[in-house]
Amino acid sequence: MKFDSVIIGGGLSGLLCGLRLARAGRHCAIISSGQSALHFSSGSLDLLGALPDGSVVENPVEAVKALSEQAPEHPYSKIGVERFGALADEAAALLSEAGGKVEGTSLQNHYRLTPMGTFKPTWLTMDGYVRSDNRVLAWKHVALFNAEGFLDFYPQFIADELRKTGIECELHTFNMAALETVRRNPTEMRSSNIARIFDCDENLDELARIIKAEMGDCEAVLLPALLGIERTDGVARLAEKTGRPVAIVATLPPSVNGIRMQRALHHAFEQAGGTYFLGDTAVGCERQGDKITALYTVNHGNIPFVADDYVLATGSYFSRGLVAEHDCIKEPLFGLDVEAAAERSGWYDRNFFEKQAFEGFGIKTDKTLHGLCGGERIANLYVVGAGLAGFNPLAEGCGAGVSMLTALHAADCILNKQ
Ligand SMILES: Cc1cc2nc3c(=O)[nH]c(=O)nc-3n(C[C@H](O)[C@H](O)[C@H](O)COP(=O)(O)OP(=O)(O)OC[C@H]3O[C@@H](n4cnc5c(N)ncnc54)[C@H](O)[C@@H]3O)c2cc1C
Repeated sequence: MKFDSVIIGGGLSGLLCGLRLARAGRHCAIISSGQSALHFSSGSLDLLGALPDGSVVENPVEAVKALSEQAPEHPYSKIGVERFGALADEAAALLSEAGGKVEGTSLQNHYRLTPMGTFKPTWLTMDGYVRSDNRVLAWKHVALFNAEGFLDFYPQFIADELRKTGIECELHTFNMAALETVRRNPTEMRSSNIARIFDCDENLDELARIIKAEMGDCEAVLLPALLGIERTDGVARLAEKTGRPVAIVATLPPSVNGIRMQRALHHAFEQAGGTYFLGDTAVGCERQGDKITALYTVNHGNIPFVADDYVLATGSYFSRGLVAEHDCIKEPLFGLDVEAAAERSGWYDRNFFEKQAFEGFGIKTDKTLHGLCGGERIANLYVVGAGLAGFNPLAEGCGAGVSMLTALHAADCILNKQ
């Protein structure tokens, strides 16, 4: 099978890279094993929340110069300080336009409400979620509803934290006949299954009636993020029917809105002419000199994927883009060079809450994100996303940003080469 570009991994980075290349007229394929980090998303996408030295970042565009001085090997430093803001804006526009509507700006972080009830800085928040410009809720009195028996959401934690900031927060549960079909087996009471119930207007309208009857004189209604897996108007419809502002709060995984964003990007990629091989895994390659000449997958056996360029977007440990063995950390598909501490004792801090070194390990590249093997650049292989070396997604609050910006940067490098 011959393509212009083959992307391995169909999470946020693979999809954005593919979308950009396909829209530019490249004949593109994405091969992806399965779930991505988007299925576990908080509903917000981080760009830059802190510098490597720990200083808090409010304006990512302003802070990226200091970042590149502190961390010259950071993916943002490779992209270039001058390109950072434009690529961030382009990535946000591409997401919104593909159907994953998001709010936020690269010039000022805002705050998202976590499932634990605390506020964390972030860049883009998916439509409908609680967000704040100053770590304080916009309302003084809220009613927080949860589905009876839904255990992946802790209203009490959220209420306790909100009350500490002077917010009056009342807790309610709701039940309805449609929930019984899911509740028959308690392990099925997961956000993605409940959300399907609210894809039906009738069930959403029944929820609106229940809320209206119980919400009292609260200023706004908060709900876990499970208002429909297909629909995007769940929050707006509830607000209209109840006559109060409605906002959603992230649940524990799976993430209904993250799944929806994954689907929207997948759909946009196919609309742009791309081919998505879902449920297939790349397992081997052929290489001649400094070029990959063929890629093999589980489902296609000895039929090779042949392309001018290959993009590795297989994520980090979570998606097996990086594999930690007892004494080394490997990139399993191409055997690319990996940046990691040689001694296992240098991988982690025993204090769980400290910055963990292993989070910063990953695949080495040159400035144009070419993968390296034995120190030699592979001329037609680019690496993007969570598997890259040089950044710490948790400590620096930059996970999604690195995935999105490196995806667009690699796409530019491929297109500029033409
Ligand atoms: C659980 C979790 C939750 C996160 N939540 C957030 C968040 O809320 N906000 C935020 O800013 N950041 C978050 N992050 C950081 C996250 O890394 C990025 O946001 C981003 O979504 C990662 O996208 P990616 O495409 O680089 O990698 P991934 O999303 O990991 O995608 C990699 C894909 O490659 C596929 N794959 C792997 N190996 C192969 C192979 N050999 N062949 C074919 N396919 C393969 C995998 O199946 C997967 O679909 C989270 C990370 C994790 C692990």
